[in-house]
Amino acid sequence: MPRILDGNRIRDEITSECRPRVEKLTTLQRPPGLAVVLVGHNPASEIYVRNKVKTSHELGIHSETLMPPETVTTGELLAVVDELNRRPEIDGILVQMPLPPHVDSKRVLLAVSPEKDVDGFHPCNVGNLATGRPGPRSCTPAGIIEMLKRYQIPIAGKRAVVVGRSDIVGKPMALMLLHENSTVTICHSKTPDLAAVCREADILIAAIGRAAMITADYIRPGATVIDVGMNRLDNRADVERIFPAGRPGAAEKLEAFARRGTLLIGDVHPLDVLEKASAYTPVPGGVGPLTIAMLMVNTIDSAERRIVVC
Ligand code: NDP
Repeated sequence: MPRILDGNRIRDEITSECRPRVEKLTTLQRPPGLAVVLVGHNPASEIYVRNKVKTSHELGIHSETLMPPETVTTGELLAVVDELNRRPEIDGILVQMPLPPHVDSKRVLLAVSPEKDVDGFHPCNVGNLATGRPGPRSCTPAGIIEMLKRYQIPIAGKRAVVVGRSDIVGKPMALMLLHENSTVTICHSKTPDLAAVCREADILIAAIGRAAMITADYIRPGATVIDVGMNRLDNRADVERIFPAGRPGAAEKLEAFARRGTLLIGDVHPLDVLEKASAYTPVPGGVGPLTIAMLMVNTIDSAERRIVVC
């Protein structure tokens, strides 16, 4: 059986390291401050934001959620960000994506002060990452690097394949692996013979958004497989296609679907990965918990830079 890379365990390790840093800042001057901007009523975004705020509170980070209505204009949102940029007790600003289609998301993200950009999405910070300078890093890929290191999975000299080239996950993931001295290939929807490229990987990262797309024939025996995908299945036919009756392990998945009417599944086939990988991240409980932990780290890093400077 492959090793399970337990995201909850690594999250707990990271957050317990955060606690004394928050206490020190609070004693020195004030707690770190995180502002989350949540527009409208997107149920998935509401859950993400609730979890981010909850973790902040548990750590003693001051956090506040601003909730402009769905009808907010780009100009009004820019004014909200501008005010947060000016407030000295706010160290981190997070604008929860996606924004409504009528809002110019790129303009809003560009308006966040790079020093408070705890998501690491601002072009300045993307440039800092590309050129190996310090600055906030995109939380999901940063969490994956932490996980690989804490499980002592070698990265240097290894072949890494990243499937997905989004600005949020795929591209920063590839850059971080490159900085750790792996040989990196980035794949996307136009990559020919994707399975053959993936089979070259010692470390395979799937950040696609397609349920169970990475099957056994994409995985080199003994590879480390990191599954970023979070796909909610709500159609029984899809569940039965991915988990055909009679396959060992399928009955549990079908039962879970029957109980809840929905099944959360990654981009990697959860049964195939057991047959081929030497280590893998489960969904849920793999990459997901790390994203919030790294947001806390970015917020505390920002507060330390700003409070020391004050
Ligand atoms: P995007 O939709 O922005 O990017 C998806 C990428 O996958 C694109 O580069 C796309 O290629 C590529 N892709 C799509 N279909 C295929 C295919 N058939 N073959 C090869 N490549 C393909 O998604 P994100 O990067 O934002 O997210 C990816 C997944 O990770 C989602 O499931 C998301 O929910 C999850 N996620 C999880 C997080 C966590 O904390 N666990 C955090 C962030 C995301 P192309 O560019 O050519 O279109």
